[in-house]
Amino acid sequence: MPWCDRCDQIVEDEELAEDCLCPTCGTTLVEPQRRPIPWTFRFMLVAFVGYLGYRIYQGLTWVAHHL
Ligand SMILES: [Zn+2]
Repeated sequence: MPWCDRCDQIVEDEELAEDCLCPTCGTTLVEPQRRPIPWTFRFMLVAFVGYLGYRIYQGLTWVAHHL
């Protein structure tokens, strides 16, 4: 959530006007820079989803064999 120095308060994202302007005083509020997602995180996510899919497949085959 952006902080307005002039109003000395936090501005809710829903209250934020267009172009990140403070609804009270009209100051441009720049949101803190969002860090780009590192590729390692994406790789881990893909690996995790792949692993999970493999485990689900294993579980399903186990159930199929024990019915
Ligand atoms: Zn303000």
